[in-house]
Amino acid sequence: MADEDQVCPNCGSSSTAKIMYGRVTFNDELRKDLEAKRVKLGGCIITTYSREWYCNDCSENFGRKIMTDVDEEVELGEGRA
Ligand SMILES: [Zn+2]
Repeated sequence: MADEDQVCPNCGSSSTAKIMYGRVTFNDELRKDLEAKRVKLGGCIITTYSREWYCNDCSENFGRKIMTDVDEEVELGEGRA
């Protein structure tokens, strides 16, 4: 089963690639996906602007935000009177 087609919200193109972040393992499947532009490598640096999808037509990044492992959710355990 393939991922559902993602359509670019900017230009409406369905020629979109899933962005892979971090280390990737190069194998035949990945190379095919890269050649077919189904996958794009996003590198190891994830910023708050990093998204899940890339448009091959207008270079727009879109979709879910990629969150890092360092999803800081600091609970302030104070507040007692
Ligand atoms: Zn687009």
